[in-house]
Amino acid sequence: MKGTKMMRPLIGITCSRVVGGAWSQNSPGHFMDYTFDEYSSAVHHCGGAPILIPTTQNHESLQSICERLNGVVLTGGPDIDPHFYGEEPLSGLGEIDEAIDLTELAVAKIALKKDLPILGICRGLQVLNVSEGGTLYQDIPSQVKESINHLQKKDKRVNTHNVHIDGNTVLHSIFKRKKIRVNSRHHQAIKDLASSLIATTWTQDGLIEAAENPSKSFVIGVQWHPEGTWEKDPFSKKLFHSFIRASKLAAKQKS
Ligand code: MN
Repeated sequence: MKGTKMMRPLIGITCSRVVGGAWSQNSPGHFMDYTFDEYSSAVHHCGGAPILIPTTQNHESLQSICERLNGVVLTGGPDIDPHFYGEEPLSGLGEIDEAIDLTELAVAKIALKKDLPILGICRGLQVLNVSEGGTLYQDIPSQVKESINHLQKKDKRVNTHNVHIDGNTVLHSIFKRKKIRVNSRHHQAIKDLASSLIATTWTQDGLIEAAENPSKSFVIGVQWHPEGTWEKDPFSKKLFHSFIRASKLAAKQKS
């Protein structure tokens, strides 16, 4: 190689946040942005260069960040404020953080407009749906009769339920399987699907476990956590590889 080695695609990863953390006595009332290192490890391993997107309402700044990115991972996190999909909070609603909602909904909108590859994970799938006008079940156990257990006690490295994949979808072209086993750490799910998305994957109880946007080059959301299993699970690895491949292509087309 004579210095022509292709730069890794730059992958923006959204954050969750906590108040102060270990340093709260130094900066009372301030937040720390964080995300689990599993997301960046998976991106590193599959050929991307991960970079965290801070929580901010500065739209110009988010625009400028997305201008430089070649792909976006919308990560897991707390519940989305139901106000963003036109509902009042029900008793089963969990923790919400409006600042993260505003950041991620803005990032999703900008990325969709630019046709950046997007991988939505767990809450990320829900952000994709809400950003395009869809709604959510605020709490599966209290709203969906005879739902299976979607909030596994085992950690994210363990797969606990099956999902059924439509054969005519990008996700199926990646996995080449109609049924795989995934992990499950969510108590919310898609209720009304945004009209720009198609559902690709369901659990036995009829809930949507993945969706994609057929009018974009790569927009896939999954309700499970491939970042928890990518080291051992071939399908999780395939999903990250496909996303990074699409991001490389986006980078190439830009240069
Ligand atoms: Mn599930």
